[in-house]
Amino acid sequence: MEPRAVSCSAPPVLDTTSRLSSVQWIEARRELAALDLTSSEERRAVVDGGCHCGAVRYRIDGALGRASACHCSRCRKVFSGASSAYAEIPDASKFSWVIGEDKLTEYSVASGFRAAFCRICGSTLCGISANQVHGVTLGTVDGDPGVQIEMHTFVGSKAPWDHIGGSAPQFEEEYPNSEASEDNQ
Ligand SMILES: [Zn+2]
Ligand SMILES: [Zn+2]
Repeated sequence: MEPRAVSCSAPPVLDTTSRLSSVQWIEARRELAALDLTSSEERRAVVDGGCHCGAVRYRIDGALGRASACHCSRCRKVFSGASSAYAEIPDASKFSWVIGEDKLTEYSVASGFRAAFCRICGSTLCGISANQVHGVTLGTVDGDPGVQIEMHTFVGSKAPWDHIGGSAPQFEEEYPNSEASEDNQ
């Protein structure tokens, strides 16, 4: 089971023309290490969200965890966009469906990982791992989710039309220290 970024357990098709140079790679890792990514003070205590049509709504009684954008070919499909824009939920017990749980449909994205979406409007709402809600799509959060995209992963296989903005570190594939960070979850 891989509880980090959504659905990236299979190698995506890499676009070698957009690979980061080793210098960029080192700088990206340095930037990431310098950021205080674990500060919870600015993160919201309650996070509400829902699908586009309003049939499904959820609440998280706690702050969101690591937010990332995966640009791999699978995430682009699952999230119908340039990347995933996804935030993990540190404590799954804090998550609850407010309305419309019966309107959800689940789809197996990768081994051990499913995406849940509204079967009326199609909004992808969350990722499910080990039968627990693992994280939510930032696009479905109402207002400020209290987190920012902390990293871009699988940038090596981003769409040719994708222009990544901002200063968050970019990684050619997955976050290099993902195993170490998972130990802290
Ligand atoms: Zn809906
Ligand atoms: Zn991905």
